[in-house]
Amino acid sequence: MSDYFDVVIVGAGISGIGAAHHLAAHRPGSSFAVLESQSDFGGTWRTHTYPGTRSDSDLHTFGFGFKPWTGKPIAKAEEILSYLGEVIEDGNLGGHFRYHHRITTASWSGGDRQWTLKGNLTSTGEEFEYTTGFLWMCQGYYRHTAGFQPTWPGMDDFEGRIIHPQSWPDDVVYRGTEMVVVGSGATAATLVPAVANDVAHVTMVQRTPTYFRAKSNVDDLAEMLRELEVPSEWVHEIVRRKLILENAKFSELCFADPDVAREQLLDGVREHLAPEHHYLIDEAFTPPYLPWRERVAVVPDGDLFRAINSGKASVVTDEIDHFSSSGVKLRSGRHLNADIVVTATGFNLSVLGDINFEIDGSPLAFHDTITYHGMMFTGVPNMLWVFGYFRASWTLRADLIAEFAVRLLDHMNRIGANKVVPELRDSDSGMRLRPWIDPENFNPGYLRRGLHLLPCQGDRDPWLHRQDYSQERKVFADLDLDDGTLKFS
Ligand SMILES: Cc1cc2nc3c(=O)[nH]c(=O)nc-3n(C[C@H](O)[C@H](O)[C@H](O)COP(=O)(O)OP(=O)(O)OC[C@H]3O[C@@H](n4cnc5c(N)ncnc54)[C@H](O)[C@@H]3O)c2cc1C
Repeated sequence: MSDYFDVVIVGAGISGIGAAHHLAAHRPGSSFAVLESQSDFGGTWRTHTYPGTRSDSDLHTFGFGFKPWTGKPIAKAEEILSYLGEVIEDGNLGGHFRYHHRITTASWSGGDRQWTLKGNLTSTGEEFEYTTGFLWMCQGYYRHTAGFQPTWPGMDDFEGRIIHPQSWPDDVVYRGTEMVVVGSGATAATLVPAVANDVAHVTMVQRTPTYFRAKSNVDDLAEMLRELEVPSEWVHEIVRRKLILENAKFSELCFADPDVAREQLLDGVREHLAPEHHYLIDEAFTPPYLPWRERVAVVPDGDLFRAINSGKASVVTDEIDHFSSSGVKLRSGRHLNADIVVTATGFNLSVLGDINFEIDGSPLAFHDTITYHGMMFTGVPNMLWVFGYFRASWTLRADLIAEFAVRLLDHMNRIGANKVVPELRDSDSGMRLRPWIDPENFNPGYLRRGLHLLPCQGDRDPWLHRQDYSQERKVFADLDLDDGTLKFS
């Protein structure tokens, strides 16, 4: 016997919580459950506990459209968790969440027209089984159990501690230590200023520089509207629209005139770095690629640069050659003493939450499918997959998909269908297939390493994965469910 739900949402991160809100608010007659392998909600914001863990998007756009954000734009993990907790409480959603449920297999039965989900409770190991008519995958894009950990010669000889920030142990004492942080992305840029006051010294060792966007963490418009006692819903909506527009314009500039965009970013760095550190602009803060080919990391109030100015933090562009017993030896020959080495080296891509998918007994090779607007897949019935934006806040796309999900489920009810699957038209045969994300356009390591696991996109609608909010907002609103590419039965 297994429990049945009309919809099962996989994952209780921000996407899964948003999905639950939309179902409860707009399809009150549907039964649904949110299955989550961790012990509580939050996903990314629960998994990451390294010092300073914070968003690098503003919360007016990373937060939900329906729940005003009232704090500073860039927020700490605990603030995001408390916001998500309020969303669950406001919507009385708590009873739908089942924690410690790690799903390991999902099997579609065409005969029963439902998915069977199996797995084990992470708390007791006990097996569970659920069936559902519709699967809403909100499992994120990386493996939560372990980050990407490269190996270097000599790691075993190192007498200090090596820590991956995704699994930050509770017992780390870093006060007074020499710390090396390997990496240059948002995690490294967050960690370095967060520990700088306490450590003896922290050195960020980066193979390749990252573009940083130094921004004040106060939004003047939001502050002004609050002072005018404009209701928080309005403040949220107005500031959200303004930030969406600003981000879209900046993204456009990066493509239209990358040299100007680069100069703007570097000017931000220059403004915060003390003149004696300006040599670092060329050495450490000018990447060899164009802006936005990898995520641009926001540095609120220039805190990374202020840490460098204080003398407690430094940045070197070099590579680790090997570990010694007392630190790391760089390719240049320089040795950095370290008590703690933090490897901020990224994620392991986990495409479908490490769940083995089967369609009528055959394993699903996700890479062999073609996407319907980056959320459904040819040959995969009754399943939506949430993959957010990289250049804009992830949640903006999760929200668009949630609105579509409600529309799709309503439509199925209306026409009496219990199966929907995207199918190519005759006119699509021989269509040129392209990778999920164009590696020339956006290519962080974990996506490059995993492109062969990700679905394909085509060269025309509806088989495109646009990664562009301003376009998708309109495209999704106008989607014609009866254009023949979604087969209902
Ligand atoms: C430190 C950090 C900062 C970030 N900052 C930003 C930002 O500012 N802006 C932005 O747009 N993006 C940011 N990101 C990317 C971020 O991960 C996403 O934006 C967003 O949090 C993803 O939410 P999600 O709910 O889709 O997935 P996740 O937060 O990854 O949550 C997925 C959940 O699904 C669960 N799950 C996975 N597989 C299974 C399974 N088999 N069975 C049961 N449960 C499962 C996981 O345990 C997890 O709780 C950041 C990422 C990190 C690591």
